[in-house]
Amino acid sequence: MSEINSPEDENDEKTLLEGKLKALEADLRQKKEIILAQHTKLEAFFESSIDALVQMDFDGHITGWNHQAEKIFGWSAEEILDQTIEQTIIPERYRDAHTNGMKRFLESGEVVVMNTLIEIHALHRDGHEFPVELSISVIDSTDLQEFSAYIRDISERKHAETVIWNQANFDSLTNLPNRNLFLQKLEHEIRSCDRSNLSLALLYIDLDRFKDVNDTLGHDIGDLLLIEISSRLKNTVREIDTVSRLSGDEFTIILGQIDDPLSVQPICQQLLDELSRPYLLNNEKVFLTASIGVTFYPQDSKDIEALQRNADQAMYAAKGNGRNRLHFFTPELQDRAIRKRKMIKDLRDAIEQQQFEIYYQPIVDLQSNLLTKAEALLRWHHPESGMVSPAVFIPIAEETGLIAEIGNWVFYTATEQASRWREQFNRDFQISINTSPLQWIDEAAAMNDWFTHLRQAGASGQSITVEITEGLLMDANDKTTNRLLDFRDAEVQVSIDDFGTGYSSLSCLKQFDIDYLKIDQTFVRNLDHDQDDLALCEAIIVMAHKLGIKVIAEGVETSTQNQLLKDFGCDFGQGYLYSRPVAVSDFETLLMDEPVKKIVEAKKSTA
Ligand code: C2E
Ligand code: MG
Ligand code: MG
Repeated sequence: MSEINSPEDENDEKTLLEGKLKALEADLRQKKEIILAQHTKLEAFFESSIDALVQMDFDGHITGWNHQAEKIFGWSAEEILDQTIEQTIIPERYRDAHTNGMKRFLESGEVVVMNTLIEIHALHRDGHEFPVELSISVIDSTDLQEFSAYIRDISERKHAETVIWNQANFDSLTNLPNRNLFLQKLEHEIRSCDRSNLSLALLYIDLDRFKDVNDTLGHDIGDLLLIEISSRLKNTVREIDTVSRLSGDEFTIILGQIDDPLSVQPICQQLLDELSRPYLLNNEKVFLTASIGVTFYPQDSKDIEALQRNADQAMYAAKGNGRNRLHFFTPELQDRAIRKRKMIKDLRDAIEQQQFEIYYQPIVDLQSNLLTKAEALLRWHHPESGMVSPAVFIPIAEETGLIAEIGNWVFYTATEQASRWREQFNRDFQISINTSPLQWIDEAAAMNDWFTHLRQAGASGQSITVEITEGLLMDANDKTTNRLLDFRDAEVQVSIDDFGTGYSSLSCLKQFDIDYLKIDQTFVRNLDHDQDDLALCEAIIVMAHKLGIKVIAEGVETSTQNQLLKDFGCDFGQGYLYSRPVAVSDFETLLMDEPVKKIVEAKKSTA
């Protein structure tokens, strides 16, 4: 039996269905609104992204192009949609790689650049290329097959990176590689030598007396000079060679791929010739030379630091040989450098370990034959090498700055000695103390303390003479002049040592209020057989006396020399004839016996 629905039942069902339909419609509307809202959100996100977002289908046609893409590529969405990226934003040189990448993807599904950030160049609508950062993702579903590319313009960042890199690697004045880049290039060249079995030459170039140019013509001209020098250096060597500026007036050149070390000599000579051609800078004609040190990889060393030391030593040897020349590194130079390094180390300990002693050499009054003065001459008792000559260690002390401390010790020790001898033997006794120009120039040398020391010790300034070199007067600045006045105020006298070997004039001595001239031994030595030196000594003595300066002859070895000097009216003599420099106790014996007169007379009778 079948049930038959009454008309009331059918009405109920209809109402129910209609209700369900309405509910479904409302639900659909709501979902649509949600989707719409999400879409709007996505679009806003898409458009406001700081990256360009580019979508394309698997054929490479552009299907999405946001506002930022318009901005960085110069194409509007309208213009570019449906074009391929090969036709538009990929530079020509990358197009083949792109086509191959797409082909590979369609065959195997593989995308090399997927999910990684890569840096690449893109093409702007106006034809210029610019650097971008790019990452790509793929949607591959039944509904949608698409690539999305996130592209960021990194031109500014790249520019900033380049500026920073240049600052770190180039010298801003000359645009040459700086020390940093020089070292990288040197390492690189060494590796390529290893591969090719060839050599490289490392040249250290130091300008001779560049400081004088700066001091006399000013830093602006100095800068122009450095720029001109850089271009002369670069123009003289090959394109593959690296010219760098390490500091101030120090340049290096790496000559790479050399098969015959001898071939380097003419290149160096050419560099010297080029550099010594006159420079015309702001209408000033400037003359300058340079010294070049050369070392070879791998012949001289395989170690990068040793190579730099070698070239530096060779350069100093070139300077020592008279400048405007080149010097090759040799094993003998290396030995000398090793010995020097050891000496520097030992010299640092010498004061503390009381290895210094002052010897005194008599200075004799030639008219009375009395021993009235002495020169303090420093001696170093080296624990292994024995007595080391000041001619050897003073230049090293100067180079390392140790001269300040050593000079102070000499001054204090000698002034105390002078006070003692003045008390014991002769109220007018005077000690002459050598000073190095560096002590006058360097603040750290603390010469100021000398005056305090003299006052505190109650010592008379008259007990001391300081010996200076002619060079110091030639280069005298305000500081030197004031210091000379300080000595004058303290009643300390001033002598010019080794007079005649430098270029100072007698009038210059007057200007500085000098008390004594010490005629250099080289002139005194030849007095008895060289007419020129004889005339020179006599002239110096006469002129000095006219200027109120007293004269001491150094290196008097024979009684003939003694007699000639006496005849010229020379005031004092110093030399082996009277006595060699001796230790304190021996000098006291000389003072007690007052034997100088006897010595001179005895030598005269045996001569
Ligand atoms: P100098 O100041 O010209 O000293 C004279 C040098 O000639 C001394 O050499 C002395 O021993 C030597 N001499 C003296 N009479 C004769 C002679 O008749 N014949 C020969 N052939 N030589 C003679 P020394 O002691 O070896 O000193 C060498 C140089 O070292 C000095 O030359 C001076 O420039 C420097 N020196 C020595 N002591 C000091 C010091 O305390 N401070 C500084 N800054 N330099 C010093
Ligand atoms: Mg001297
Ligand atoms: Mg001297």
